[in-house]
Amino acid sequence: MTTLFRLLFALPLFAAATDVAVAAEPQTGARPNILFIFSDDHAYQAISAYNDPRKLIETPGIDRLAKEGMLFTRAMVPNSICGPSRATVLTGKYNHLNGFYNNSNSRFDPAQPTFVKQLKAGGYQTAVIGKWHLISEPAGFDHWHILPGQGIYYNPPMIKNGERLKHEGYVTDIITDLSLDWLKQRDKSKPFLLMAQHKAPHREWSPALRHLGWDKDKPHAEPATLFDDYANRGVAVRDQDMTLAKTFTPLDAKLSTPGSLNAEQRAVWDAYYAPRNQKFAAANLTGKDLVRWRYQRYMHDYLACIKAVDEGVARMLDYLKAEGLDKNTLVVYAADQGFYLGEHGWFDKRWIFEESLRTPLLARWPGVTKAGSVNHEIVSNLDFAETFLDAAGLPIPADMQGRSLRPLLAGQTPADWRKSFYYHYYEYPEPHRVRPHEGVVTDRFKLVHFYKPAAGYWELYDRQKDPQELRDFYNDPAYAKTVVELKHELARLRTELKVPAEPPREAFGNQPFDNEPRTKQPPVKKKAVKK
Ligand code: CA
Repeated sequence: MTTLFRLLFALPLFAAATDVAVAAEPQTGARPNILFIFSDDHAYQAISAYNDPRKLIETPGIDRLAKEGMLFTRAMVPNSICGPSRATVLTGKYNHLNGFYNNSNSRFDPAQPTFVKQLKAGGYQTAVIGKWHLISEPAGFDHWHILPGQGIYYNPPMIKNGERLKHEGYVTDIITDLSLDWLKQRDKSKPFLLMAQHKAPHREWSPALRHLGWDKDKPHAEPATLFDDYANRGVAVRDQDMTLAKTFTPLDAKLSTPGSLNAEQRAVWDAYYAPRNQKFAAANLTGKDLVRWRYQRYMHDYLACIKAVDEGVARMLDYLKAEGLDKNTLVVYAADQGFYLGEHGWFDKRWIFEESLRTPLLARWPGVTKAGSVNHEIVSNLDFAETFLDAAGLPIPADMQGRSLRPLLAGQTPADWRKSFYYHYYEYPEPHRVRPHEGVVTDRFKLVHFYKPAAGYWELYDRQKDPQELRDFYNDPAYAKTVVELKHELARLRTELKVPAEPPREAFGNQPFDNEPRTKQPPVKKKAVKK
């Protein structure tokens, strides 16, 4: 071991020890358990602790983490889609370094270092239960029990340590049950890492049957931008394919019944949806009325999915308390990214804009985090791996790109905490035709470069003046100095984060761009040909 190597690894340990002293942690010497509850596409607008003006839903389970811990208001993901976000959580790295760029043709290389492997080697018992979505099998886990691919909502097949199994029931309840089962039978001589990862509320937002009609047909408040006309911005926001008006399918609208339901479940499903669907068909809605109907159906289903997740969180917190584990368990709730709940007329994610850039993030850590605290710093899922290693007193590899949240959780934001954030989305053109873009985000501004297809163009958003991000200020002379400063900051971040000048072609997925010939074959690995 070289001196430099030793020094790099010693520094985070020293930092962790300092923080312990500052926070006056009561369990000196006891390494905390880590419960990471992760959902898929959960918008912060759909957590009552975030106090969204629409007041869409009450989430008393998740809100307990805000009441008893810390709520982060600006937690960001570096690439707002499922697989890439999961790869970032595991590695603490951007996608250009962990190799998982998109959901089309990326595969997680299980040989690369992850915080999970490090925790396991460091004496933790490790498990992942639920959605995985990284194509290759989980590595570094003592126990894994995952959904294949995206998974399905009703009676889902799952894979337990390599063995295919079929489960009866609703996916969110099953993941909660399996997580609690694992906690009950775990090796109690070791601290644990449990990653309980929900499929919900991913599209197509199918609720638990007990939650059908939970809203008693009361209308949900619409977002102010439901009928965004995409004026004052470039072509990207118009060229997308993710609107309630054009992209929402009959399956999304529950106008057809999922084949995975058994006869008994199907009867409950049909008893709720069939009469409402008949009424909808008879009304023959068009234009804005149709969009409004779709929005209401979307909110009923999406928010119903959240209700099951929230009940699951409450059950897990109850278990920790009943077992006396609540005192020495760091509990983190996050989603793989944010989501549009009708803002700009959209569902889905992908954009650098606020609703998709941000993930909900709440953390409860007794002895470190003050109950009811709120943090407004720019934090990221890049920071999770470092935070968990720091909590476990393990060295943080120098090539990880985030930073431990421990000082923030202890109420002490370091003076040199990040003031800007680098974002990069790749997958194009399908699904959803959101153009590849990169950008820099600060407290107030977003400078965005839509760089493909063709020549591309820049945009500047000012959240202070335009919180809904409806106007591009890039060519406004009043912002000329800001644009120059942000371009410098973007260049600085690209260098610091080792971003290549050009992404590899496969970063965008398998499909040809519009300016490429449609007959072009996806890139394939060349095999040696014998001559
Ligand atoms: Ca997702």
